[in-house]
Amino acid sequence: MLDNKTLYIVVPCYKEQEVLPETSKRLREKVLALRKAGKISDASRVMFVNDGSSDNTWPIIRELHEKEPGIFSGVNLSRNRGHQNALLAGLLTAVNYADMIISMDADLQDDINAVDAMVDAYHEGYEVVYGVRSKRETDTFFKRFTAEGFYKVMKALGVDIVFNHADYRLMSRRAVEGLAQFSEVNLFLRGIVPQIGYKWTTVTYERAERFAGESKYPLKKMLAFAADGITSFSVKPIRLVFSAGVIVFFVSLLMLLYALIAKILGHTSVGWTSLIGSIWLIGGIQLLSLGIVGEYIGKIYNETKRRPRFIIESVLNDDKA
Ligand code: UDP
Ligand code: MG
Repeated sequence: MLDNKTLYIVVPCYKEQEVLPETSKRLREKVLALRKAGKISDASRVMFVNDGSSDNTWPIIRELHEKEPGIFSGVNLSRNRGHQNALLAGLLTAVNYADMIISMDADLQDDINAVDAMVDAYHEGYEVVYGVRSKRETDTFFKRFTAEGFYKVMKALGVDIVFNHADYRLMSRRAVEGLAQFSEVNLFLRGIVPQIGYKWTTVTYERAERFAGESKYPLKKMLAFAADGITSFSVKPIRLVFSAGVIVFFVSLLMLLYALIAKILGHTSVGWTSLIGSIWLIGGIQLLSLGIVGEYIGKIYNETKRRPRFIIESVLNDDKA
């Protein structure tokens, strides 16, 4: 058998009966071509993950596997758990068999031809290869605007993500094993994968339109996804409250001074000075305290994630263990 060359292509599918026949056809051709070129082993597979679809998705996957077990495999989740969880289920199952794993969407929006470049990069020694969209011409203005805005906000909040990269990527077995050590429940893979480290690179491709069917990410899910991404990776919003508290507190001191001067100069009505002074002071102190409490909650929140503190790439040591 060829070593270090087994590729698994993991494809999460939720109600994708319209696209699966075409997707499986194209992936099959791709796998066969790569096998022929000697870039991947004969043990390589396409692994469809059925994310609790209520349509014919799973029967289609089962049939594909029964017809060609040497190409198609499947994982069936007990119910719908969402894209990120379905993807993780696929990755953690495939890691038992594969040396490299590519994840991609079922709807053929991710250009299958980028697989070649990803596999080449793997052979050059890269352990994580991010698929990056070169342009978004096929997206609606709204989708493009919201999506690019999302990446910018994430960057501004200090979250380490790759611009215009969705979940189309290759990971080596080691990288997926690293991913397995992240035990957080609020999964935002685009944010976690860069945390794993190892040598990485990007491959650009043009994002196509959905081949058939409808997007399974309506605006509501998209917003929830974005909020999840931000709150899972950044305590900056808490810091903002804290900073606001500090600012209001200082402003309150100025206001107090102003109120006193106004009183001495006699421009005020009775009771105004103490009223305005206490409103500002109490407001400032409240925001400040909220920020301090928030800091602690931020710490608790980071601790509860139990993220790995490090992942060792290699050790140099003469002694045999
Ligand atoms: N998906 C999934 N579970 C869900 C929603 C989506 O597994 O609950 C899969 C879906 O089948 C597709 C991928 O996630 O393979 C991306 O979904 P979609 O193409 O609808 O998202 P969009 O490209 O519109 O952002
Ligand atoms: Mg899509």
